[in-house]
Amino acid sequence: MAVEAMELGLVFWAEKHAEAHLKELKGFGLRACQLGVPPAMDCSAFAEEWKAAIASEGVFVSVAVCSYAGEDYANLEQVHKTVGFTAPGYAAQRIARTREVSAFAAKLGLTALSCHIGFIPEDKTSPVYTELLAIARELTDACATNGQDFVLETGQESAATLLSFLSDVARPNIKVNFDPANMILYGSGDPLQALEMLQAHVLSVHCKDGRSPKAAGELGQEVALGEGEVDFPGFLALLKNLNYPGLLTIEREEPDAVQRKADIELGVKRLIQWKQALA
Ligand code: MG
Repeated sequence: MAVEAMELGLVFWAEKHAEAHLKELKGFGLRACQLGVPPAMDCSAFAEEWKAAIASEGVFVSVAVCSYAGEDYANLEQVHKTVGFTAPGYAAQRIARTREVSAFAAKLGLTALSCHIGFIPEDKTSPVYTELLAIARELTDACATNGQDFVLETGQESAATLLSFLSDVARPNIKVNFDPANMILYGSGDPLQALEMLQAHVLSVHCKDGRSPKAAGELGQEVALGEGEVDFPGFLALLKNLNYPGLLTIEREEPDAVQRKADIELGVKRLIQWKQALA
């Protein structure tokens, strides 16, 4: 199914039946999404259900988003300890899970898989950098055998560090899911400057907003679209200038379901307005 450049979409986590999620998506007036695959999901049991629902609802899924058991985003220290492939004790199980989710995504006909690989060290001589590079190559190659791009979520490091890492991985199918809010939440630099630097590698973007951390060692706060520090009119103008062909995928990790729904509706409304102002 073809979608338009900069068409709106939504990221959600598959926690209900496929049809319920896709009807919810359409309730927001959307027909495109990224499919978040939670750690507990039994991929082999649900592949047929998702494949059938995507076809019958006529929905476009751009990416499968892989998350892992043990990830904790409560604060910066916990993120360092628990998120990514170099978090102590997690590498083997997360590599295996990524391969499983990639195979699941392939059954659904998806051509990309994304995840947080963890903090990329600035110091290229560090053992963690070498380990992460080897894992990224292994997973990028595994995705290639399934006809997929391997997509890194941005924001836990500076654009310069990520750019240099991409060049070291040196595979045509390693890409970036650019999340401007993560740059703010992790204090990793100016999102618009980062997007300019990473533009050649950007496969998809998240439309998420946030405010800077209040103190060192803390994470910033995610907020509804337009309520934070991301300059969305500027972000969309830059994407348009770059002839970005992908989706504007709304991401909102708000635990309260009623608030989340309201925030997504607000996000849809604001993105439509900001896009109209570009024309
Ligand atoms: Mg994101």
